[in-house]
Amino acid sequence: MPQRKRVLITVKTYPLPSKSYQELVCTAGVLEDGSFIRLYPVDFRYRPYWQWYKKYQWVDVDVEKNADDDRKESYRPVLTSIKPLGEPLDKKKKWAARRQYVLAQGAKSMETLWDLQQQDNVSLGIVRPKVIEDFVVEPDDLEWKPEWKVLFQQMSLFGPAQKPLEKIPSKFSYRFRCDDARCNGHKMMIEDWEVGQLYLQMRDKYGDPKVAVEKVRQKFFDQMCAPDVDTHFYVGTVLKYGSWIVLGVFWPKK
Ligand SMILES: [Zn+2]
Repeated sequence: MPQRKRVLITVKTYPLPSKSYQELVCTAGVLEDGSFIRLYPVDFRYRPYWQWYKKYQWVDVDVEKNADDDRKESYRPVLTSIKPLGEPLDKKKKWAARRQYVLAQGAKSMETLWDLQQQDNVSLGIVRPKVIEDFVVEPDDLEWKPEWKVLFQQMSLFGPAQKPLEKIPSKFSYRFRCDDARCNGHKMMIEDWEVGQLYLQMRDKYGDPKVAVEKVRQKFFDQMCAPDVDTHFYVGTVLKYGSWIVLGVFWPKK
């Protein structure tokens, strides 16, 4: 039987193609006690618009454990039950309100999260880097794999499709160190939907992928990791590999 949960949405990943759902988004958030939860799969852009929840918006949703995903925080949402509640917690005035939930269980180091992953199948957390050394941009495949392209073509033959899902031709990573004696430093990809969105907006505005990449860097490094910002990373594992990626950034002023 599904159980009803109230979730404060904190991250949405860039959509990935899917055979059964066309495309899928991984969403993570916190419950009222600050414990993390993952909602997967969600065919976000194919939901009716009134279900398009935003970051830092509370959502009521019926969830069940998913037999294909035994990570501690993973639940499969009943998609038709997703119900956004009220306005998102406003950024300008409400960092404190966000912090109350997001940091209720405290930030951890990657080393501690690895331990918890081994012990308890923990797969989500929030990290407060001691130092963020760099924002690394590397070229990625220019297009989706051929099998996905075939799938997209088939899908467009049926019914109304959303705007085609664009492949982002760069990958973005943070290089950082934790406040932990065991830390040897990390380089972790960021897969926040907002990174992809910003890239596409800037590419369309300036007509130049290089400028778009620079704009992403300005926002996600110069601004979000500025000295006067108390930068935290939402992190989570990739189901298939168990490796960790950055899902999003929590960046209140110090
Ligand atoms: Zn570390």
